[in-house]
Formats: sequence, C-alpha cells, structure tokens
Amino acid sequence: KNTIEVKDLDFYYGDFQALHDISLEIPANKVTAFIGPSGCGKSTFLRTLNRMNDLIEGTKVDGEVLIDQKNIYQEGIDIVDLRKRVGMVFQHPNPFPKSIYDNVAYGPRAHGLKDKAKLDKIVEDSLKSAALWDEVKDKLDSSAMGISGGQKQRLCIARALAVNPEILLMDEPTSALDPIATAKIEELIEDLKEEYTIVIVTHSMQQAARISDYTAFFYMGKLIEHGETEKIFEKP
Ligand code: ADP
Ligand code: ADP
Repeated sequence: KNTIEVKDLDFYYGDFQALHDISLEIPANKVTAFIGPSGCGKSTFLRTLNRMNDLIEGTKVDGEVLIDQKNIYQEGIDIVDLRKRVGMVFQHPNPFPKSIYDNVAYGPRAHGLKDKAKLDKIVEDSLKSAALWDEVKDKLDSSAMGISGGQKQRLCIARALAVNPEILLMDEPTSALDPIATAKIEELIEDLKEEYTIVIVTHSMQQAARISDYTAFFYMGKLIEHGETEKIFEKP
C-alpha cells in the first residue's frame, strides 16, 4: 500500500517528448528524491504522479502509473479523489489569502465537511503534524499572508495533510527558503515518512543525501540510475 509503480511512462508537451520510457517503483513510507540538472524532467515526472500535468493543454501520457495497484490513467478514474490521496507542495509557498484556519480547513470543506468541531480537530491535528501548531495556535484567524516563508510552507504542508493523503509530492519545497527554515522542513519530512510516502524533487545532491532513503537520477528526460540513496552516493 502507498507504493507507486510506474511502467514504461512517456510524456509529451505537444511534439516535445519530456519523459522517455520511465519505469520505477517508489517505495512506501520512505522519502524518495528525484535529482538531476535543470530541465531533465523531474517536475514533469512528479506531476504525472497525481495527473497535475492534465491541466496543461496539449500534453500526452503513455504507460502506467499504479497507485494501490490501480492505474491512475485508466478510464473512469476519479481525479478529485486521486488529488486527495496524492497531495502536493510547491517550490513557492502558496497559501490562499485567507486565515490560517481557512487554509487548512479548505480541503475538508471542499469535500463537504461542515461540522465545526470536526474541522477544528482536523485543523489542529494537521498543524501539529506540520510542526506549526505551537507557532500559530493563538492566531488561527490571522491572515496566512502575515507569517514567514518557512511557516507558509509548513502551512501548505498542513493544508495538504488535512485531506488525509497517502502520498505527498514536493517540488523543491525548500529552494525558496533560508537555511533555518529549510532545516525545519527537512526535519519535518523525516517525521512525516512514518505515515506518508514522500517524493521530493530537489536540485541539491546534498539535500537528497541528507533526507532521502531512495534516489532517482534523471538526465534529459530519462531515468539514468535509481536505488537506495546510500548506494547511489557511495563512490568507489
Ligand atoms: P523549475 O526549474 O523551477 O521547474 P522552470 O522555470 O523550468 O522552473 O518552469 C517554470 C514553469 O514554466 C513551470 O510551470 C513549467 O512547466 C513551465 N515551463 C518550463 N519550460 C517550458 C516551456 N518550454 N514551455 C512552456 N512552459 C514551460
Ligand atoms: P526539471 O524539473 O528537471 O527542471 P521540467 O520537468 O520542468 O524539468 O522540464 C522538463 C522539460 O520539459 C524541459 O525541457 C522543459 O523546458 C519542458 N517543459 C516543462 N514544462 C513545460 C510546459 N508547460 N510546456 C512545454 N515544455 C515544458
């Protein structure tokens, strides 16, 4: 469960083929890092894992992405449910211009939850899981735009966790942050893998070596090497 299995995946932006025949098993409850030079297809590949790429016109996918043994590209798949199970966090923290509370409650409300006590509990639990509760518990009604960049990113993580996902995709979640905020997010990622399967795109080899259990190295749209991080970084 929570394992992602990719089989012979090709991806096209119009006529441009951005991914070539990718096959990869992403282990459950581990941190998997995608690394490689800018433009090699890391973000594109990440976005194929919750069909975020569908939002771009003229794209095409061949191959399979199996989550819980089910191909997410087969007909009749529920995209709303898929995005709920596979959450996403972006490079630039993008909270909604709403209160901290409303940011975290957004997903559960969108899925129809109205019960105030239940929402309160989800907001508290999600903020705790994102290591942000202590810093914001006295200002839940304040605007999310007024907190620091690192806090905004943890808020975005809390917002993703609030709909109870199985998998968390992170696209360079620390590259817009200072070193202290980065260290906090890295520590948080370590804690989160107990409950979630985490996939992180990073341009930093050091970060991949620090926080990932499994590493996939991309070059020009191809998967060049993958394996346990310790082995990938071990040089003879
Ligand atoms: P990053 O390296 O942080 O992913 P980029 O500058 O490569 O950022 O891309 C920023 C945005 O522009 C992304 O949403 C990406 O999908 C889009 N983009 C990148 N390359 C192209 C392109 N050749 N044509 C259209 N959009 C692109
Ligand atoms: P990375 O995340 O490794 O920097 P990307 O996945 O962003 O790489 O980009 C892979 C390739 O796809 C690049 O050549 C990029 O220019 C191209 N690309 C990315 N987004 C788009 C887009 N929206 N439209 C067209 N080409 C894109």
